[in-house]
Amino acid sequence: MLDAIILPVLGQLGHAIGSVLPILATLSVAFTLLHWLAEPCNPGVPWWRKPGLVTDFVFMFVLPVVGGWARVVLLVAGAMFVYGLSEPAEIERFVGGGHGPLAGLPFWVQAVAYMIGTDLIMYWTHRLFHGASLWRYHAVHHASEHLDWTSGARFHPINVVFHSVLADVVLLMLGVPPTVLVALGPFNVAMSGLVHANLDWTWGPFRHVLASPVFHRWHHTDPARGGSMNFAPTFPVLDVLFGTFYMPRGVLPDRYGVDHPMPQGFLGQMAYPFRRDPEPGTDPLPGH
Ligand SMILES: [Zn+2]
Ligand SMILES: [Zn+2]
Repeated sequence: MLDAIILPVLGQLGHAIGSVLPILATLSVAFTLLHWLAEPCNPGVPWWRKPGLVTDFVFMFVLPVVGGWARVVLLVAGAMFVYGLSEPAEIERFVGGGHGPLAGLPFWVQAVAYMIGTDLIMYWTHRLFHGASLWRYHAVHHASEHLDWTSGARFHPINVVFHSVLADVVLLMLGVPPTVLVALGPFNVAMSGLVHANLDWTWGPFRHVLASPVFHRWHHTDPARGGSMNFAPTFPVLDVLFGTFYMPRGVLPDRYGVDHPMPQGFLGQMAYPFRRDPEPGTDPLPGH
């Protein structure tokens, strides 16, 4: 029992802590500097005194473990059931990259395909998670009333698997090698922190090109106040294309959270979607 289950889990957690700590330290310094140097979107406490910070940190260390396992499991399943591979050596080569229509292309083309492809997939999975049947899993991400860069880590594992992990696996199965994911990882982590940060940045005329803090903070507001729009993780042009772009000029979003009670601790949020009688609150798009 100890050898088979507990030690590997501890090893994975240790690995996750080792890889998350340098990122956490870098982003902590960057967002502390921005707190002093840049204008906030909303007045309030600095990020290091925000309620729920410890819960955010727990999510930061646990989710990379869950996501890492899920990515490999889904990829191996894809190799076996979509490409019909059965030999361990074949599957290992597949997981390492090299199959699919994008496999032979130059690295930069694969990187562009990965960025656009995953954003398109995550735009739609995000919209589905705002539908009534999946909202209880995604409500965990929207539970933060004090939104700041650390809030970006909050996702229920089910939400992570059928959102970012699924998008990664689709692109890996199309032939994008894992080295592309590794190379773009720091950009994606920084973007996730940035779009949740308490900054009044809109990118001005480039507001449709790249997701900004104001763009995504609108997404975290109540649907009645313009929330439940702006689903794209990185490229708001997807929201423009599909009619969900919302960034009124001269107004800033200022109230976040969900319209139904949510447990605020990590374990409570893990259990929330499976509770017998979760609050019936939903956050669907009109017509969803
Ligand atoms: Zn959402
Ligand atoms: Zn968010």
